[in-house]
Amino acid sequence: MSAAPAPAPPSLRKAESAYAAVLFVVALAALLGATLTSGDPLAGRSPMLAVFFLIFGLFTISTGYRHAGVGYVSFDRVAQISCILVLGPIAAAWVNGLASLIYPWQRLRRGQPWQRVLGAACHNAGLMTLLTLLCGGLYVWVGGAVPLYSLGVEQVLALILLVLAMQVLNDLMMLLDSWISSRQGYWPFNPFVFAVEGAAALCAIFVAIIFNRMEPAVVVLLLIVLAVGLLALTEFARMRSRLEEIVNERTKLLREQTHELERQATHDQLTGLFNRRFADRFLEEGIRDFVEQRRAFAIAIIDLDHFKRINDAHSHQVGDIVLKRVSHLLIENCRSADMVARFGGEEFLLCFPNTGLDSAARACEHLRETVENTDWSDISPGLIVTLCAGVAQMRPGYDRSRLLRQADQRLYEAKRAGRNRVEVDLAS
Ligand code: GH3
Ligand code: MG
Ligand code: MG
Repeated sequence: MSAAPAPAPPSLRKAESAYAAVLFVVALAALLGATLTSGDPLAGRSPMLAVFFLIFGLFTISTGYRHAGVGYVSFDRVAQISCILVLGPIAAAWVNGLASLIYPWQRLRRGQPWQRVLGAACHNAGLMTLLTLLCGGLYVWVGGAVPLYSLGVEQVLALILLVLAMQVLNDLMMLLDSWISSRQGYWPFNPFVFAVEGAAALCAIFVAIIFNRMEPAVVVLLLIVLAVGLLALTEFARMRSRLEEIVNERTKLLREQTHELERQATHDQLTGLFNRRFADRFLEEGIRDFVEQRRAFAIAIIDLDHFKRINDAHSHQVGDIVLKRVSHLLIENCRSADMVARFGGEEFLLCFPNTGLDSAARACEHLRETVENTDWSDISPGLIVTLCAGVAQMRPGYDRSRLLRQADQRLYEAKRAGRNRVEVDLAS
């Protein structure tokens, strides 16, 4: 089994192509060198065995699926290890390198450009050739038997070394690959992959021993059973991946919908400010903090002056734009701890937690000046916008309605006194 990361963006493909070419050339040179020094890589065995393992290799590569964590996963390790244990590392490197060189070309059918397919073929062939040659060579060097007939202690240790070496080298090469193509967050050393590689290796050892000891008919039967098992496993894994994707998609959608519903339940649609329902909860909290912890709490009710006239003189649409811009100005000029809500048509409620009357009054005066001094003519020529604010603070004995009433009365006074004013509830 091997894992491959997802494809890189186009800008990085040049580095990847160069790396694939170098890997391919190095692997081919090493393989040719090993072949020339060894004499007959098949050690007198039938070339049909090599053809068989080539087909077996292609089959195991095709039994792959996309794993959410580690990318593409296939069971080619079964073919690689069993081939080493039957034919030896050099022949196995030829066979598996060739299988990896051939397999990517089926991507042409899926519409991938041939340059990318060539890059993938060179990369995979180079990687698999080196992997099989080096790790298989290490296995033989420590005394591993080829062909493998039985399992003694020495054999088992050599096999463990072979399996571990293949996996570690594979993952190191994948890490190098992801580093060269600047893929971030890719980490190949995955416990799940290690566990499945272990199972694939056991399967490969089993195949090799049967292959070396049994009659051809038994071997064929076993391989058919194995092939069906691998296909079933792959189908199961693909199904699981698909289900996982569907669940992830649905969860994301539900989260977005919940978030949107929460937003709608607490925000005003036109201005994006908090709505009255949220403002009521915030008020309750501020009042409770005042009662239980003596924390200062001030509020202001702000009302736009002669807003009906703005609608009448400039259109309702202009009125809407004014409401939005005023909302923006209020938010911009308040602290993040303050709460700004649309309380009614052109009426806003501001809550100032941990704030005394003077500070709240200063903040409202600043807001009043800001709105008055804003240039509104870009919305509609001759447009003037001003506001009145009534400011009150929590005092002992006040409840929610009393606090609101005090602020409302000051607002009314501001209107009566000529508008564009801030009135403060100085005494209870
Ligand atoms: P005052 O200075 O005394 O507050 O006068 P006013 O005209 O602002 O007050 P009044 O209560 O008479 O009118 C408020 C207007 O606000 C009437 C209503 O059509 C308008 N209004 C309420 N909600 C909206 C809205 O969402 N969009 C627009 N464009 N107008 C709105
Ligand atoms: Mg008004
Ligand atoms: Mg009003």
